[in-house]
Amino acid sequence: MDAPSFTPVDAPVPQGVIVVERASTALDLGPKVNRTAADVIRFLMQAGEMVTATQSLSDDMIELFAAEVGAEIRLVDPGEEQEVELQKLLQLDDDDQSAPVRPPVVTIMGHVDHGKTLLLDRIRNSTVIEGEAGGITQHIGAYQIERDGQAITFIDTPGHEAFTAMRARGAESTDIVILMVAADDGVMPQTIEAINHAKAAEVPILVAVNKIDRDNADPDKAIAGVAEHGLVPEEWGGDTIFQRISALQGTGIDELLDQLLVLAEMEDLRASPEGRAQGVVLESNLDIGRGPVATVLVQRGTLRVGDPMVAGAAWGRVRALINDQGENVTEAGPSTPVQVLGLSEVAGAGHDFVVAPSDKLAGRVASTREHWQRQSSLGREAHALAGGAKLEDIFEQIQRGEAATLNLIVKADVNGSLEAVTESLRKLERDEVKIGFVHRGVGGMTENDIQLAATANATIIGFNVRPDRKARELASNEKVEIRTYEIIYKLLEDVESAMVGMLAPEYEEVVTGDAEVREIFSVPRIGKIAGCYVLNGVITRNSKVRFLREGTIIWKGTVQSLKRFKDDAREVAAGYECGIGLSDFQDLKEGDIIETYEEREIERTLDS
Ligand code: GDP
Repeated sequence: MDAPSFTPVDAPVPQGVIVVERASTALDLGPKVNRTAADVIRFLMQAGEMVTATQSLSDDMIELFAAEVGAEIRLVDPGEEQEVELQKLLQLDDDDQSAPVRPPVVTIMGHVDHGKTLLLDRIRNSTVIEGEAGGITQHIGAYQIERDGQAITFIDTPGHEAFTAMRARGAESTDIVILMVAADDGVMPQTIEAINHAKAAEVPILVAVNKIDRDNADPDKAIAGVAEHGLVPEEWGGDTIFQRISALQGTGIDELLDQLLVLAEMEDLRASPEGRAQGVVLESNLDIGRGPVATVLVQRGTLRVGDPMVAGAAWGRVRALINDQGENVTEAGPSTPVQVLGLSEVAGAGHDFVVAPSDKLAGRVASTREHWQRQSSLGREAHALAGGAKLEDIFEQIQRGEAATLNLIVKADVNGSLEAVTESLRKLERDEVKIGFVHRGVGGMTENDIQLAATANATIIGFNVRPDRKARELASNEKVEIRTYEIIYKLLEDVESAMVGMLAPEYEEVVTGDAEVREIFSVPRIGKIAGCYVLNGVITRNSKVRFLREGTIIWKGTVQSLKRFKDDAREVAAGYECGIGLSDFQDLKEGDIIETYEEREIERTLDS
């Protein structure tokens, strides 16, 4: 492009470096350098470029115009500027001693089966006021209780998977950890892991010695075991509080909560409810009726309906806020967990969220983040494509002494489990074998996933999700292996076994039929019956069932009753209508899929 002669108007150009976004329009660019859009258009026209005021300009055009008017500019990617602006908003003063005290946020950690879930339920139920409006407790990933007029927030995804997933993203959501140790079992591997995680995060630990009601309980032994890991009880000269409890019988729980409040007071937790809210995403999923739903923990400020917010690469105006009682609320202050409706997409657990000064800024930041995410996942994909292996072949590759990469596509029912599965899988990585996450996502497996797996030479791992029929067919044509799990240990065990060349025969669950729910009938004394159309195969009475909504397993059980019109039927084939009763399961919706299956062992031949 030749620079035409141009007579600049007299207004002085701003001093110093002017930040200009790539792909700015004449309308954006002009005012930044004290010119009008018309000046920009006229200049470019003389240079032989016809542009309108709202058309994106190329880097060349922007630089040319800047040079012409004598402005020193720096071109940045769109959103970069806003990102910086938004980050500045995040750096609020944490040590503001004038801010009011806020409730502590508590996570319960410990070995599996040591009673975390029961304690969480017990604490919650004992404090729910009967007959309270709403009344039905909602599991939104966290809840708040009140004790002696003081609130305490509990993260109700027990275990340290969620905690580590948060920390992996740099999010610190927990103020106090309650470490659960069963008095009959003592310190176990995950007890130690939990201690290490809490210590690494520098979060104070309160130890609950549980199951003291058991005959074989030995609380002293359990305490001594914990003390060996550096948590020494006060009576032994240390500074850790131990509380003996029985989550089952409710013993010691009041005392535990009192201790918790004492500890919280010592921590002197403060946050201002003033100003734009910020915090962290605890959990998020796609709800069929409501769209993306995120549970967030507000850490500072107050979140309100109507606020424009950014969470990871998702953004939107808050359409509704729902508290842990299932009630709509208009605002949520510090340490309050609340469900947010209105985001553009599912925001990953552990992402920060912040209320932006405007919709425009929120949208720009989110779209830039998405752009970068896509870039980096494309990069990873290309990397995985090059030389990665499937689950069946990984051992062979390791044996050849090559740097082996196990290519996986992971799909899960909600973001929290996706994070947990990913984190756990990452822990299996060793020097000789890395895991390439070709793609990770929430929801059932689709043809896209299969296609990607086929090109990237990846195995698909599903957690609480299933492939739809088309995906299943494509997978068998493309020889893509899909492994589905409902228990995380089983999943990890399989991957680990594959790494040592001992992939066990899989009990393949062969789908025998699927039917679509088209109508729902209520039958007195029996409950709901799904009026279905059999899409494939045969539906047989008493066969095992997975109940799917948008590819996600929401219930498992058996076909309890099967009818053709008014008569009992033993089986109903594809192309026919039937009525299916699923014992205690009543949450039926039109469009849901009832998938029946049987288990068969598939022999696996490993040529190694
Ligand atoms: P989690 O895996 O740590 O969440 O453990 P759960 O809360 O699911 O508890 C595991 C099992 O231990 C369940 O069967 C509980 O009923 C039982 N349990 C939990 N706390 C107690 C307790 O205080 N006493 C007794 N006897 N059993 C308990």
